[in-house]
Amino acid sequence: APTPAVTPLHARVSRAALEHNLSRLREQSPSGRVIAVVKANAYGHGMLEAARTFAQAGAWRIGVATVEEALELRGAGLDAPLMAWLYGPGAELKDAVAQDIELGVSTGHALEQVRLAARATGRQARVHLKLDTGLGRNGFVLTEAVPAARVIVEAPELALTGVFSHLANADWPDDEANDAQEDLFREVLAQIRELPGAQDAVAHLANSPAALTRPSAAFDAIRPGLSLYGLSPLEGRSAQDLGLRPALELHSAVVNLKRVPAGHGASYGLSYRAPEETTFALVPGGYGDGILRTASGQAEVSIGGRRHPVAGRIAMDQFVVDVGDAPVRLGEPVTLIGAEEGDPGADDWARWAGTINYEVVTQLAARLRREWT
Ligand code: PLP
Repeated sequence: APTPAVTPLHARVSRAALEHNLSRLREQSPSGRVIAVVKANAYGHGMLEAARTFAQAGAWRIGVATVEEALELRGAGLDAPLMAWLYGPGAELKDAVAQDIELGVSTGHALEQVRLAARATGRQARVHLKLDTGLGRNGFVLTEAVPAARVIVEAPELALTGVFSHLANADWPDDEANDAQEDLFREVLAQIRELPGAQDAVAHLANSPAALTRPSAAFDAIRPGLSLYGLSPLEGRSAQDLGLRPALELHSAVVNLKRVPAGHGASYGLSYRAPEETTFALVPGGYGDGILRTASGQAEVSIGGRRHPVAGRIAMDQFVVDVGDAPVRLGEPVTLIGAEEGDPGADDWARWAGTINYEVVTQLAARLRREWT
């Protein structure tokens, strides 16, 4: 009989899981408003599909970091309300304003850039004023925030749609830096809201860990990313604990099987040697697909419901699994990230690679085939 074709490395992404997570997060937002963050290719899940799914499911805004990401979504036909908060001095913002992309504004320079773009396009630009309440990244320092808000509300070509800030330690819920940032945000927000025309600005502070642990930080909208993909931002709390459903699975297949004698090496550097006679299974998938090479020596995959160790280094396109004497067949599915009991998850890869689950999924490369279900 002809060999049946196997499906090598591919991700399966579930729209239903994204919808479930959005409604779960909406429970954390008294206003019901959620800014669904889809930057970095929707944390590796696929930006356009994720943005469409969240928009259709009622997200208040779609949020991305860069203006280029927002323009890419518009270019692909997404007409949902969109915001972007990262661009450099001198960036051309006319296209963004013309295409109704709301812009985070973090400096006096940025404010002027947006103003010029609004004048040049003859359209009012909607802006979200960003405050640095302690993270030390983008955002007006507090003494400059109220004057900047005044400029915005007084300029007919600008509308103050939002006021926002970002937390440094929300994944460490008991840390008092969170209280300090939240208090400062509340205080400056109150001052801004005294300005005529600033009452309706939507205040948003909470990323995933804050949305899940600090009701006081929910304000008028929350701004989660990671949790919408069904991953936990909190150490010691599983996705399941938090009522989240991981949206992405990662599967491949055995494309070569060979019996090898004790001492046979596997992959570059020969860092792994078969402890006894065994079977090596070759699996497509490597760091060229975003599978973290730093997980080599620790990682395990699931084949036929059993965990087996990745043998030696993960290469650019493939890795070897030592399956011992298990009855593994050529073409058999291999689960790198799965939903069954005992399957590895993004949290396992993070531990093996010494990183966070955010990086595990965000690294998934453009070349990886994504199937939406
Ligand atoms: N808001 C801003 C400004 C961000 O940079 C990010 C991502 O880091 C988020 C919200 C979403 O954060 P998280 O993925 O932790 O929910």
